[in-house]
Amino acid sequence: MKNPKPWRRIIFTVLAVPALLGLIVLAVYVAGIRLAQRVPILMYHRVADDAPDDVWTVTTADFERQLSQFKAEGYHTYWPDEIHWNRMIGGKRLQKPLILTFDDGDLSVLETVEPLLEKYGFKAIAYCATAQIADTPASRQNDAGHRYLTWTEIRAMRERGIMEIGAHGHQHIRADLAADPALEITRCIDDFKQKGKFTPNSYSYPFGVFQPAGIRMLRAHGFTTAVTCSERYARIAWGAKPMKLPRFWVCGGRHVFTITPLPGPTTGYEIIHQGIPLSVCIHWTDPDGKPIAAAGSPQPLEAAMQCTFPGKPPPSDINVQIWDQNNICRIW
Ligand SMILES: [Zn+2]
Repeated sequence: MKNPKPWRRIIFTVLAVPALLGLIVLAVYVAGIRLAQRVPILMYHRVADDAPDDVWTVTTADFERQLSQFKAEGYHTYWPDEIHWNRMIGGKRLQKPLILTFDDGDLSVLETVEPLLEKYGFKAIAYCATAQIADTPASRQNDAGHRYLTWTEIRAMRERGIMEIGAHGHQHIRADLAADPALEITRCIDDFKQKGKFTPNSYSYPFGVFQPAGIRMLRAHGFTTAVTCSERYARIAWGAKPMKLPRFWVCGGRHVFTITPLPGPTTGYEIIHQGIPLSVCIHWTDPDGKPIAAAGSPQPLEAAMQCTFPGKPPPSDINVQIWDQNNICRIW
């Protein structure tokens, strides 16, 4: 039998093998793009009505309106670890995923947030700094009106299955300012093991600050996800970074709007805002609330401002809605 001509083998090696490898890489890349999902992760701290000028406290009415809106829009809430495992096993595409997070272990998570989540069929995760967690209600820690959860409450909440519990350091110190950043993590995990009787799988870096050594430690202790404070959508896909998940901060405080149609031929409104200054996006809708124009880009909301509909000629029956700067929560 004749040997194949050597030049054919050379051409096959030089052209066909790299082409095949290229096709495989392209297929994996395309599959990765197709399967990648954007997930909004929202960062709250406290839900209560006693701190109208506190950016960390969202009013109960605002929070419930946001949950109602998420329900109407078809969002499904997940815990970070569920999204992680779905990604690892190549699970099916998630239907409008949303992650709700609550930092600092405030008592309002138990008193207000958990009942409202149950009412709307949602779930969330609360990240606790363990030095702030007392053993029982009698020794509950109180910091300038902010009361924190206890270990008994944490264990009971976790068993009820609506609120997952994550770690938020021991003394809530920034990783780059801690005398011993590793000790902050180990003391936090030890507290969870000894007093909580479980090891969390998700971590919230205090002030959003993290270091590579800290990420390695968390991974070694079995943590699958960690959240930061970078303001953008999380990307869930192969190659995404589950230990650096970004979050959108939900600005608290009381926001009262007075919105009056402008007189004359121009379609528009005067908006008077009372509350902490914040950036917003204006949505134009028909009377049924259906959008009739793309939302504008974020703009700082001054105490009083005028916004006009950009269409010509100005159509009648146009309403205005005010959304947060990331177009996730309707504010008014
Ligand atoms: Zn915090």
